[in-house]
Amino acid sequence: MLTAIVGTNWGDEGKGRMVDLLSADYDVVVRYQGGNNAGHTVVNERGKFILNLLPSGILRPETANVLGPGMVVDLEHLFHEVERLRAAGIEIGPEHLLLSDRATICLPCHKLLDELEEDRLGDKKFGSTRRGISPVYADKYMKKTLRLGDLLHGDTLPQKVAELMEWKNLTIEGGYGHAPVTADEIMAWLENYGMPFAGFVGDATRYLSDAVGSGKNVMFEAQLGALRDIDYGIYPFTSASTTLAAYAPVGAGIPFARLDESVGVMKAYSSCVGEGPFPCELFGEAGEALRAAGGEYGAATGRPRRVGGFDAVASRYGAKLQGCDYLALTKLDVLSYMERIPVCVAYELRGKRIDCFPSSIDDQNALKPVYETVPGFCCDISACRTFDELPAAAKDYIRFIENAVGCPIRIVSVGAQRDAYIRLF
Ligand code: GDP
Ligand code: MG
Repeated sequence: MLTAIVGTNWGDEGKGRMVDLLSADYDVVVRYQGGNNAGHTVVNERGKFILNLLPSGILRPETANVLGPGMVVDLEHLFHEVERLRAAGIEIGPEHLLLSDRATICLPCHKLLDELEEDRLGDKKFGSTRRGISPVYADKYMKKTLRLGDLLHGDTLPQKVAELMEWKNLTIEGGYGHAPVTADEIMAWLENYGMPFAGFVGDATRYLSDAVGSGKNVMFEAQLGALRDIDYGIYPFTSASTTLAAYAPVGAGIPFARLDESVGVMKAYSSCVGEGPFPCELFGEAGEALRAAGGEYGAATGRPRRVGGFDAVASRYGAKLQGCDYLALTKLDVLSYMERIPVCVAYELRGKRIDCFPSSIDDQNALKPVYETVPGFCCDISACRTFDELPAAAKDYIRFIENAVGCPIRIVSVGAQRDAYIRLF
């Protein structure tokens, strides 16, 4: 079974939580895109964990985890993330974690360039996480940067670093007027944070190919959501990588594999961290109340997330892009304080009602939400474990969303803990 767990919206739908739950039936969990700009929060019997680079399967001792070729890996961040988890009693050795030799290394100069550019933009900033993700993906496609496999070739590494820094400093020093980053600094950084992982680096393609060949189950964990996809999202307010399920086998290292299943993780309301079009945003008291109820503060950055009612149009678009076979609806419990639940059922675009998500940023910026409200359930549902136990209004809300999105909901999450969910058949 090859399954992708993906986000249908702006991200933070609860993908980490769903991977943690569903990975019980999988032998391998692979991250296939993005870097440490991800923030997946997982709460289980071992504690509360925030994962940025590591797949959420790392919390299950019997599960193997892979960082695929489609990822960008900040080794310093990985070093600290692994240390933090080890301190919490999680064992992480080469038998638990394989780093693809084809994955790209996110270097300190990429982080620096991200900072320099966001600062230069000032008010017009993109809302980058300032973790170097866009600069390093840009360099990947310029075919200029280092891959994890380069760590295994110590003889040629200094030459590669010297050539890279000569080129990078044209921008850092020549363009931004910042002090250059020396090749020696990069070499020292690689020594400190890269070499401890040398024994974890290998050919993910061969490994996954063998795993699939011997009938193992593989799960692909996405970072961010469909609307942040570089090609199909709210460009240029997207991430720099492909967040879609269709890319999962490629970014994971097994481009020849076919997915059996795409599971869309969808939140019962909307949230958006950072800048960009977010048509259903709620402001003022309504926004504050929802943010507080949902604890909507970024896991990677701590930034308050923008929040809004469920956006049926964007969600339908997201579920379609992700080719979802079914949905896992999360955070339904958060809505229990609402007497009426707002749902964005269409948009108004320059005076015309539309029910599809437009492709241009100018149209996306001009969207006004058309809200309908549906009855709230006004009680605590976090202890419900079957559909029948839910109040009628909560059942109606689930069915309403299912219809609006046009995809079956098979799982409803009613709390952050591993077992706080309901299966629908
Ligand atoms: P991800 O980036 O998609 O993995 O999502 P995040 O971890 O950034 O954000 C989801 C947040 O909601 C996390 O803090 C989870 O612990 C929490 N969460 C997930 N599912 C539920 C749920 O059903 N109810 C509640 N109350 N919290 C949830
Ligand atoms: Mg997140």
